[in-house]
Amino acid sequence: MNFIPLSIPNIGRQEWELVRECLETGWVSSVGSFVTKFEEEFAKKVGATGAVATSSGTAALHVALKMAGVEAGDEVVLPSLTFIAPANAVRYLGGWPTFIDVQEDSLQMDPSKLASFIEKDCIRVNGVLTNRHTQRRVVGVLPVHILGHPVNLDPIVSLAEEAGLFVVQDSTESLGSTYKGRMIGSEGVSCFSFNGNKLITTGGGGMITFQDKKLADRARYLTTTAKDDSVEFVHNEVGFNYRLTNVQAAMGVAQLGRLDEFLSRKKAIHHSYAEGLAELGTCAMVGESSWAQSAFWLNTMRLTDPNTDRKVLHKLLKDVSIETRPLWQPLHMSPAHEGSWFEDCKVSEVLYKQCLNLPSSTGMTDSDLGRVVSVVKGIVS
Ligand SMILES: *Cc1c(COP(=O)(O)O)cnc(C)c1O
Repeated sequence: MNFIPLSIPNIGRQEWELVRECLETGWVSSVGSFVTKFEEEFAKKVGATGAVATSSGTAALHVALKMAGVEAGDEVVLPSLTFIAPANAVRYLGGWPTFIDVQEDSLQMDPSKLASFIEKDCIRVNGVLTNRHTQRRVVGVLPVHILGHPVNLDPIVSLAEEAGLFVVQDSTESLGSTYKGRMIGSEGVSCFSFNGNKLITTGGGGMITFQDKKLADRARYLTTTAKDDSVEFVHNEVGFNYRLTNVQAAMGVAQLGRLDEFLSRKKAIHHSYAEGLAELGTCAMVGESSWAQSAFWLNTMRLTDPNTDRKVLHKLLKDVSIETRPLWQPLHMSPAHEGSWFEDCKVSEVLYKQCLNLPSSTGMTDSDLGRVVSVVKGIVS
C-alpha cells in the first residue's frame, strides 16, 4: 500500500535547472536576478502593481501589518477558523487579534459578523473605533482566504472603509483563486506563502502584493534591514532581515510557470472527490461559493452524521497509509491567544469538529484518488 500524503511539493526539471544556475554562478543569497524576476512575474500573474518577496508568509504578514500601522495594544479582526500565523503576526507588533465567526457554507470569514462587531461591540472614543469590552483601539481587518477559496471580500472592504479600518488579506492558501472574476492579489494588500505544502513552493518563502509602487518600495526597504546608505550602513529605522534568497526565488520562478498546470490538477482532484463521494448523504465536499473560483488548495470533507467521528475516520485512513488532517483548533479557543477578545464563534467550533482535509497533492495519481474515494466510502457507509 503506497503512502498518500496530504499535500506535498511537485518539483520538475525547470526547478532543477534554475536552482543549478544559482549554484553554478554563486548567486545563492538575497541578491540576484531571480528575486526581481520572481517578484515581477508574480505581480503580473496576480494582477498587482508591485510584489515584494519575503522569507516566509508569516514574515510577509508581519511587514504588511507594520506598514498598515498596527501598534502595541491595537486590535485587528480575524476569522477564528484559520491557521495561527496571521494572529501571531498581529502579536509580534504588540497588537491583539479579535476573532469573529465564519460562514457555514464557505468556511470563510463572515461579513455579517464583522458588521455586528463594529455596530454592537465597538464605540467611538474621541473619534477612534474602540472595542467597548477591552477599551482597545480597533485598527484593521485581516480576512484569510482559507483552503484555496476566497472570502466574500466586497462587503468586508466596504465595512472596513466605512469604519476607517485597513484591510490586509492573508492569501497564503489561495494563490490562483478568483473573487467575482478578480484575481486574489489584484486588489489592496495581499500576503502569500511558498511553504512546502502551499500551491507553489520555494521550500519556504512569501510575497506581499500592492497596488502602489511606493508601498512596494517601502516593503522592500523594511525587509532588507531598512538600509539608507549601503556604503556607510546608515539605517534610519529598525528593519527586518526577511528577504527571500536567490536560490528560493529561482525555484519560485519555475513553480510559478507551472501554476496553471497545478490549478487545473487541483480542480480535477476536487471534482473526483465531489463526484466519487456524492452518493454518501452523510458527508459532503466543501464546494465553491457563488462569488468564487477556488484554487482547491486542500479538499475539505464535512461529516454531518453525528455517528461519524472525524477523529475515527482520520485514524482509519492513517492505518491504510492515507494522510488526512482536520482544520485548525479555532483560535478563540487557542491557549496561545488567550486574552484576545472574541465574538461567539459557534460555527467555527462545529466545522472544526466535522471537517477533514483529504489528500490534495497535484502529483497524486488517478489511482491514488480512486483508492482514497473507495476507502472513505467503505468507512463512512
Ligand atoms: C501557510 C500559512 C501562513 C504562513 O505562511 P508561512 O510561509 O508558513 O510562514 C499564513 N497564514 C495561513 C492561513 C497559512 O496557511
